[in-house]
Amino acid sequence: MKIALFKIFGFVLSHRILSNYGKMLVKKVEIAQVMPCIADPAKIRVIAKADHRLEEVLPFLDKVIPTALYSERAGFLTYKRGLSIITLHAFGEIAMTQITDNEEAVKILNEIKDKINDTWARRADLYAYLPKTNCGECGEKPCMAFAMKVLNEGKKLSDCTVLAEDKYRGARDTLVSLLESAGYEV
Ligand code: SF4
Repeated sequence: MKIALFKIFGFVLSHRILSNYGKMLVKKVEIAQVMPCIADPAKIRVIAKADHRLEEVLPFLDKVIPTALYSERAGFLTYKRGLSIITLHAFGEIAMTQITDNEEAVKILNEIKDKINDTWARRADLYAYLPKTNCGECGEKPCMAFAMKVLNEGKKLSDCTVLAEDKYRGARDTLVSLLESAGYEV
């Protein structure tokens, strides 16, 4: 089967995605290789490449994709989508098995791109609502390090004692809501 190369732009013109445009981690995914699927020769196996490495976002995707299996050491995250097995590699490769055709491949890759960017934007949102004093009271410094720890479940929001001050009540409520909507226990 010929190697196919398709450019996928897939910009979803929703307000949400547009508002997060500046925070996009992955702007483009290209299909690099299409092969017959080993499990089902009637289907295809697809290798695609994101225009950005993925290691920073994989731990967060692990939190938001219920069926995800993530190995930081091996540098990949894999999950099932119907019959397909999707694997995202830290170096930016995306492998998919049991895909019906190129059209379905493009659709799934756009879904993955949106999921990556949405998850990445949540991380940025979390930092945006922290006090940003970089005081170190939580045991982390600067506040971005604390945000990363919270998203990796190494810290609780309550570890930021500054956030407990009355003037941060609104920010704290927003953070709780952001984390709960991403499946975290707060
Ligand atoms: S205690 Fe809060 S404000 Fe201080 S460094 Fe940690 S996250 Fe930032």
